Amino acid sequence: MTEQKISPVTPEQPIVQPPEFDPEDEYRPEPEPEPLPPAWMDGSFRIGIHTSIAGNYLNALESARKLGCNALQIFSASPRMWQGGSARIPDVDAQAFRVRREELRLGPLVIHANYLINLASEQRMLQTRSIQAFHDEIVRAMALGADFLVVHPGARGEATTEQAISTIVESVKQASKRAPMGGLRILIENTAGMGTAVGARLEEVAEILASLRNLPVGACLDTAHLFAAGYDIKSEGGLASTIGQIDGAIGLENVPVIHLNDSKIPLGGRVDRHEHIGKGKIGAAAFARILRHPRFGTAAPEGLTGRVFVAETPIDDPGDDRRNVARLWELAGLQEQAPAAEKGFSMLTAALQKKISIHRKAEKKRSAATETQRTPKRAAKKARTKKGGARKSSARQKRG
Ligand SMILES: [Zn+2]
Ligand SMILES: [Zn+2]
Repeated sequence: MTEQKISPVTPEQPIVQPPEFDPEDEYRPEPEPEPLPPAWMDGSFRIGIHTSIAGNYLNALESARKLGCNALQIFSASPRMWQGGSARIPDVDAQAFRVRREELRLGPLVIHANYLINLASEQRMLQTRSIQAFHDEIVRAMALGADFLVVHPGARGEATTEQAISTIVESVKQASKRAPMGGLRILIENTAGMGTAVGARLEEVAEILASLRNLPVGACLDTAHLFAAGYDIKSEGGLASTIGQIDGAIGLENVPVIHLNDSKIPLGGRVDRHEHIGKGKIGAAAFARILRHPRFGTAAPEGLTGRVFVAETPIDDPGDDRRNVARLWELAGLQEQAPAAEKGFSMLTAALQKKISIHRKAEKKRSAATETQRTPKRAAKKARTKKGGARKSSARQKRG
């Protein structure tokens, strides 16, 4: 400033003559780079497991890494509570999660929606709540940079399947309004067909997807649910025929996520109970066929680049999670290229197992005490429901 004041040169008299204008000097912004596919879309085999966000979102990433996964699934909030006002993830937490996930090259990231959400509900209150909660799921999934958001179609109650499907479609449309989705895809999961659950038949999932074709949607298929719903994926012929049916109804290119769970329930039993890989009614040989089938693979042209297999197996004892992941790599014939797991790591520690068992005993005592206070008629009804399998006892088994 002071220099200008003492300068004898007035602004009207430039000292240096500007050079001739050369069109080459014109500033041209670099063309927008083609968006690079994420690192996990390199055609490699992706295996993940459902990991816990307890304590911190970052813990889920570290667990996935220590369990020998290269992908993961999480809940973005407590799966059995309505979130209310605390539905959003603080920016710093979301940012830290995205950075760490990239460092660990984990992907895709699958988020499983809350269990209380019933997009098929005919009850006004529950439908409104479900739409709001699913909208919040989309917002949280975006914040965490998720690739897929998996949701169950819902329970139809007294309504017909047709009515329920149109309610589901309407609910998803409402929930995704004013929610920019970027690269996020909503996946409708097939169900075991417990109670009045919609989506046990592949055609039902297909119909929902067809009505939502203006949104980024697809399907998530669960092996335990397929089996319990009556699709015989255990036998070689049954698997071939099921793959044909999936392709005919939904198209395998629209199935980027497959939940790999063995089933405690026999074929067509219509109950959702997951079992360790190879220890249930589906069995190890069938999982090897599924994991090695070119149509379920990640290599083009028969497979789908970026497809992921996610285990939602129980953790009865410390190490079950790590062992199920290792089993999947082994059955896929890829143990050589599997990421190294941390020796002895489990999401269930011996201390946590003890805590859970104490908690369960207390719960059992409490519910037994409540039971005796009930009228015999209601107690009898509850016992019947329990026998039918409609009630779920273990929190872990609820993950579907
Ligand atoms: Zn399930
Ligand atoms: Zn599920």
